[in-house]
Amino acid sequence: VNVGENLMEMVKKIEEEFWVPAELLKQLADDMELMMRKGLEDEHSSSIKMLVSYVDSLPSGDEEGCFYALDLGGTNLRVMQVKLQGNRTIDLKAESYMVPPKMKVGTLHELFDYIAERVSHVFETEENHDFEDVPGKRRELGFTFSFPVHQTRINSGTLLNWTKDYNAQDAIGKDMVEELTKALEKRAIDVNVTALLNDTVGTLAGGRFYDNNVVAAVILGTGMNAAYVEQSENIVKPYGIPPKSGQMVINTEWGNFNSSLLPLTDYDRALDNDTPNRHKQILEKMLSGRYLGEIVRRILQRLAEDAALFGDIVPPRLCQHYVLGTEIVSVMHSDKSTDLNVVGKCLDEVLEITNVSLDKKQLIVKICDIVATRGARLAAAAILAILKRLGKDKTNKGETVVAIDGSLFAKYTEFKSCLQKTLTEELLDEEVSKMVVLRQFKDASGIGAAVVAASHSINT
Ligand code: ADP
Repeated sequence: VNVGENLMEMVKKIEEEFWVPAELLKQLADDMELMMRKGLEDEHSSSIKMLVSYVDSLPSGDEEGCFYALDLGGTNLRVMQVKLQGNRTIDLKAESYMVPPKMKVGTLHELFDYIAERVSHVFETEENHDFEDVPGKRRELGFTFSFPVHQTRINSGTLLNWTKDYNAQDAIGKDMVEELTKALEKRAIDVNVTALLNDTVGTLAGGRFYDNNVVAAVILGTGMNAAYVEQSENIVKPYGIPPKSGQMVINTEWGNFNSSLLPLTDYDRALDNDTPNRHKQILEKMLSGRYLGEIVRRILQRLAEDAALFGDIVPPRLCQHYVLGTEIVSVMHSDKSTDLNVVGKCLDEVLEITNVSLDKKQLIVKICDIVATRGARLAAAAILAILKRLGKDKTNKGETVVAIDGSLFAKYTEFKSCLQKTLTEELLDEEVSKMVVLRQFKDASGIGAAVVAASHSINT
């Protein structure tokens, strides 16, 4: 059977709608940089909030001591013990847990009690000699929290709103450090929460621990976000006493970027309409791990309905929101077998669709490619915006390192290579692109949280 004409036409139209030319990417980067400047003046007048992190000095790599980090991300909770040994060396132990979906949408108390329970479990199983028991010395912990909070100091921050698929309503406006401390105390866990930081800020600090040239951090995982080092004189909005260092790490919250320039499609609008945080995180919804698969699913459903992609029926599973995860899209996209049997297997196992012809499987891979390509290109434009903000997009003397992390970037090969290619070949001049490096540092966010906790230690 040949793929129908109508189907081919629809795919062609989708391909055109999803294509973002380099010119537009550059305009978007300019617009984002402008929004970033506006966010530094007044966060209410910009879709990019540019939150002050109160991290005003970054590690040198010489730090020493045993510290703890707790990382609450979109998918996982990680509890880490980090022994800083000077000379950019560490010894790290980590336990990872998948946050049960019901905890994400229940009450704040339930969520934080679950976290405290995990922390207590790690502390209890920790070998006794691990933590040096000095009288009066308490364990210290850096809390990485990858949701937008308003901070007025390093160890306090109120939740502005949830993102990704969290929705514990009673948490908004509460101080996350206070709430975590309460939950830990209830379980008689002896630890001080000395720092609250966004995962991007942690990744930046962790990257800097290893490499002095790190000036920004980007996360492409369930959501998308970035942090970078700003000159404090450029922060016009009130935030407290200007730091002695003259520098301040800014958590951009750029996933919330929205602009009339963004080439939104009907698929994006419909997706947004069905989210609990409508009209928010618009850029994030076009490209991050939580949503890429859902965009592909919506397109496939439309093709099934309007162009008989799967024959006379619309497979019921295909109509289920979020049934198609980005990791499956990535697996299908990288199927190199001649008969695309991996694609076939995914369709069968995830969507309960069997006996799909080769040309239709090719078409499905094409859809994955179209959606991932748009996402990767937009992510490249967002990185260009940061480089512009840092003044590193034109001339570069030394190396500019962007610490980058998140499974979307780390595990989705086609996404990663498209992002890198777009940035270096289409958005940056050849000379500049040689000096801009996107680098992954293992466990950067945890190390960063521990190092920031160390530098705000109350024991010293
Ligand atoms: P976080 O939830 O803290 O962002 P990750 O960086 O691990 O954690 O991101 C997890 C997200 O990355 C998942 O929601 C999923 O959408 C996406 N993801 C995981 N594995 C893959 C993969 N192999 N290919 C593409 N995306 C993936």
